[in-house]
Amino acid sequence: MRDLKVLQAFDYANHLLKWFDKNGRVLPWRLNPQDPYKVMVSEFMLQQTTVKTVIPYFINFMEKWPTLEAFSSASEEVLLTIWQGLGYYARAKNLLKAVFMIMKEQNGVIPNCYEKLKNLPGFGPYTAAAVASIAFDEPAAIVDGNVIRVLSRVFGVAKPMPAGKQEIMKIAQDLTPAVRAGDYASAIMDLGATICRSSKPLCNECPWQEGCFAYHQGQVHLFPMRAAKPVRPVCLSTAFWIQNSEGKVWIQKRSQGGMLANLWELPHTGFSVALARQQVASLDSVAKERPRKHIQHVFSHFTLNMAIVEKKACDAMELMDPDNGEWVDPDGYVRRPMASLMKKVFTSMRPPREK
Ligand code: SF4
Repeated sequence: MRDLKVLQAFDYANHLLKWFDKNGRVLPWRLNPQDPYKVMVSEFMLQQTTVKTVIPYFINFMEKWPTLEAFSSASEEVLLTIWQGLGYYARAKNLLKAVFMIMKEQNGVIPNCYEKLKNLPGFGPYTAAAVASIAFDEPAAIVDGNVIRVLSRVFGVAKPMPAGKQEIMKIAQDLTPAVRAGDYASAIMDLGATICRSSKPLCNECPWQEGCFAYHQGQVHLFPMRAAKPVRPVCLSTAFWIQNSEGKVWIQKRSQGGMLANLWELPHTGFSVALARQQVASLDSVAKERPRKHIQHVFSHFTLNMAIVEKKACDAMELMDPDNGEWVDPDGYVRRPMASLMKKVFTSMRPPREK
């Protein structure tokens, strides 16, 4: 790792801000002056999701709820419908909870500092720092995957992630300027996304090239150093495509707690990793009914292999929860919020189009 003398000799913040003034991305949530509500919504959407994916969702969201006050009267069901496809639905629910809390406890005004923001639902250290810096110009350091990549290259952080994150956080805090902290936060995000990319970084266009350890050592490809990844477990499940005499399909709402809470889905045998062995047995028993399709879906912490078995309503009463479900057209399911997994199931069950 480079020593602090180098850090002091090269004015990283100044070089980056000059570059940002010419090359910063134009994004629908970047305004002058900043609107804290728009910054907050965009930062929730950007958790685990790319800018390109977020833009249309953000525009749609703002058309529906242009102000914090308007959003505070949204129902969770409608919010999940607008959010569907973005994934990580806990973010949407936490955003709504945070807004309820802001309306109730802060008179509808978003807190303007990191220390208060980090106590709101769904605000981890990163989101609190991003909103504090971008919306309120507080010099709170942001550290996400992009920032880790950039700083580990620039300062040659040899400790593998995630253990090296503490070192990166210290560097990030030292580099964040007292003035234009919000622009600096946006700038380092842009640098990571457009120049210091994970593959094929554009070092010859980089404002930090002169002060970059990995570049001068010819070791850009080695950073960030990573510990070996644990193998992602595989889980098995069976979903039931239950149709009534009109050809409609039964869907039902998940319970309030846990993964994918409150989203709609086909009845299925569950997909907790711990249940995988049991599900093998359950698959054996339904295998006689010949699954019509198999799909695979990758969640953040496991891979799901799902068989889809067709059933007639009269043979599937025990699988249906009559208090929490409804019949939908095989093509008309979009009016209920569903996770990407279930959309994939519906798409796979569509009859092929005639040529
Ligand atoms: S010089 Fe290359 S490796 Fe170093 S920060 Fe810039 S883009 Fe990243």
